[in-house]
Amino acid sequence: GSERVFNFAAGPAILPENVLRRAESELYNWRGSGMSVMEMSHRGKEFRSIIEKAESDLRTLLNISSDYAVLFLQGGATTQFAAVPLNLCTPSDAVDFVVTGSWGDKAFKEAVKYCKSNVIWSGKSEKYTKVPSFDGLEQNPDAKYLHICANETIHGVEFKGYPTPRNRAGLLVADMSSNFCSKPVDVNNFGLIYAGAQKNVGPSGVTIVIVRKDLIGNAQEITPVMLDYKIHADNNSLYNTPPCFGIYMCGLVFEDLLAQGGLVEVEKNNIKKGQMLYDAIDQSKGFYRCPVEKSVRSLMNVPFTLEKSELEEEFVKEAAKEKMLQLKGHRSVGGIRASIYNAMPLAGVEKLVAFMKDFQARHG
Ligand code: PMP
Repeated sequence: GSERVFNFAAGPAILPENVLRRAESELYNWRGSGMSVMEMSHRGKEFRSIIEKAESDLRTLLNISSDYAVLFLQGGATTQFAAVPLNLCTPSDAVDFVVTGSWGDKAFKEAVKYCKSNVIWSGKSEKYTKVPSFDGLEQNPDAKYLHICANETIHGVEFKGYPTPRNRAGLLVADMSSNFCSKPVDVNNFGLIYAGAQKNVGPSGVTIVIVRKDLIGNAQEITPVMLDYKIHADNNSLYNTPPCFGIYMCGLVFEDLLAQGGLVEVEKNNIKKGQMLYDAIDQSKGFYRCPVEKSVRSLMNVPFTLEKSELEEEFVKEAAKEKMLQLKGHRSVGGIRASIYNAMPLAGVEKLVAFMKDFQARHG
């Protein structure tokens, strides 16, 4: 059919309808250039205007100061699991990790190869349902930085505030892949933020790194040129051929977020959607359950299980028939997961909640 669905996928994920329409209208002939963005030289003035506008709109959205470089890279957040320690550490430097889910765990395991990384807190024994209290965290004063995953996409655990890094350099590093641009963030509290684009801000293939400029330029000698922040910063993300079309799409999303009134407005919508869905779960008398501690429930990824777990498959199947797709939980945890990123309209969450009530009435 020609109708759009409500896509609850964790990433690649739903994009704003008006962004897709705009890209469609500009696809064949971008603004009179006689070619599509996919065909342009990355060094031509047209593409340069696209990447510069994308960067400047992102700087406006997140209020990023000139102390920070903004890089548009490739390789996904997974590549940053290695690039961050390679750029910020020597092999003998210690790094602290707070692990609140499986992405933080993956970041830790990759960093082990390039520095002395240590897990100072892990939520694994409690099935990743919590964020630790920051006061009780025993940090290594000699650590080069403290690493967190701001939103665990699989487990649905989201930091609502951030720990103060108690290492000498005072550095906090965050993987913000799955809640990037979902709410205002004070970038000044971070040494480095990284995010894959394919959840909130664009297609896969673009990875955004926001890094304090004074941290650039000390990469380990073995660092591949493609992972060296200095190379990319010195060349305005145009050292080699960047993911041009993806960057263009991110730019359209940034424009759209600004047109919505910026991240303060975006967050208001996300709070409304998240509350509606968590209320439906909590008011179901146990038919639906979310294991995550209430104070750290993610506004982006809402995992839940059914009391009668044998009904989960039926739930996903019936929802799909009503054009609500990709509700199956991650293969590692099972259950249901509804990802409700920025671009998920309120109507999508309303429809899901109505479906959940109806499903319970029929199967409860
Ligand atoms: N970190 C988080 C929080 C993620 O959600 C993901 C992807 N789901 C990754 C890292 C890995 O991202 P990529 O697939 O872009 O390498």
